[in-house]
Amino acid sequence: MRNKIYIVGIGPGREEMMTAEALHVLEQAEVIVGYTFYLKLLGERFQGKEWLSTPMRQEAERCRLCFAEAQKGKKVALVCSGDAGIYGLASLMYEIGKAYPETKLAVIAGVTAASSGAAVLGAPLNHDFCTVSLSDLLTPWDRIEKRLQAAAEADFVIVLYNPSSRKRNDYLLRACDILLRSIEQERACGYVENIGREGTRAETCTLLELRDRTVNMFTTVFIGNSGSEIVNGRLITRRGYHI
Ligand code: SAH
Repeated sequence: MRNKIYIVGIGPGREEMMTAEALHVLEQAEVIVGYTFYLKLLGERFQGKEWLSTPMRQEAERCRLCFAEAQKGKKVALVCSGDAGIYGLASLMYEIGKAYPETKLAVIAGVTAASSGAAVLGAPLNHDFCTVSLSDLLTPWDRIEKRLQAAAEADFVIVLYNPSSRKRNDYLLRACDILLRSIEQERACGYVENIGREGTRAETCTLLELRDRTVNMFTTVFIGNSGSEIVNGRLITRRGYHI
């Protein structure tokens, strides 16, 4: 692990939802870099590790901190929630890593919120799906709008990441209005809050109902495709089997 940084997706929350590979890498690490919030989610066995962090929105600094620690000879792991390569820091690490050619990088896959949230709801992703992040911090809103429109027209199941934040509490409503241009009001939808964490809450509803729901930043939203339905409170997407 010398002069090699592991970029680890820790899954949605509880330690049991982490892969064995991720657990193994974190056990080997001397320094773990990431939000201290994740430290609270992780079990007892990681509490004794050296833990380094930077404030929210200082992602590039957090990455550089990893390279600085690795160059001191420390075994470094950078942790991200879910999968580090899905709206996480994996690609930024490779970009910044161009300036540190002697440091090797390895990404350890994690269970992303689309997958863990789908399991809570039922089986909504059982056909072609796409994910769209509603955060316009790094992506202009008109591009997000275009992608939503295209996804709706192509009949994808759509998973929305970052559906809300303190500053953007009407983004889900705005997204639903775009989707409602080409999807019927009764379309089966669902959302899950705090997947794999205390206070997990799942709801199913129609697209029109979803428009007026308030969700927080720890929520992942699912919009079904034309083959989706709610069965006994579970959101499922038919795969097309004849039964
Ligand atoms: N890398 C992460 C995604 C980070 S973007 C992953 O692969 O899951 C942050 C967004 O992910 C949140 O706004 C939310 O939409 C979703 N998310 C991440 N963890 C979640 C959890 N435990 N419960 C619900 N949604 C979650």
